[in-house]
Amino acid sequence: MNEHIPRLSDIFSCTRCGYCCQGETTVSLNAEDQQRMIAKLELSREQVAEKYWRITDNVVQMKIVDHHCIFYHNDEGCTVHEGRPWRCGQWPLHPSILADENNFLTIRESCPGINQEISYQQFCAILKQLLEHNQQLRC
Ligand code: SF4
Ligand code: SF4
Repeated sequence: MNEHIPRLSDIFSCTRCGYCCQGETTVSLNAEDQQRMIAKLELSREQVAEKYWRITDNVVQMKIVDHHCIFYHNDEGCTVHEGRPWRCGQWPLHPSILADENNFLTIRESCPGINQEISYQQFCAILKQLLEHNQQLRC
């Protein structure tokens, strides 16, 4: 008997609409995120910090330009894709979805990449299976 192994595309496929990169706030970068971004940009830490980061006390975030993340480009989307923070890679499959259907509905409303055809229960069942196989699920 063949067990159906779910794929990420069963519940999500990014349309690259860019909505999640818009707004006046952005995610914070942990130490690994900072290193990954520095490596991707092939600049020094100081150069990356000056050009791309907003640092408040110990919190490092990406700068916001014209109401979107500094790395977002209208035609190209995320211009630091391989070097993006883990929270960007995780979106929209935030663990809070599994805790509360309202979180799912709110996220689904803002993200057209989420499969709009399946129920909350179906979505959660597939997401749990994916997470069991891959704890570091990145979209
Ligand atoms: S994750 Fe969702 S909101 Fe963000 S670009 Fe992809 S489809 Fe759009
Ligand atoms: S790093 Fe990339 S994916 Fe993350 S908010 Fe900026 S443009 Fe969007």
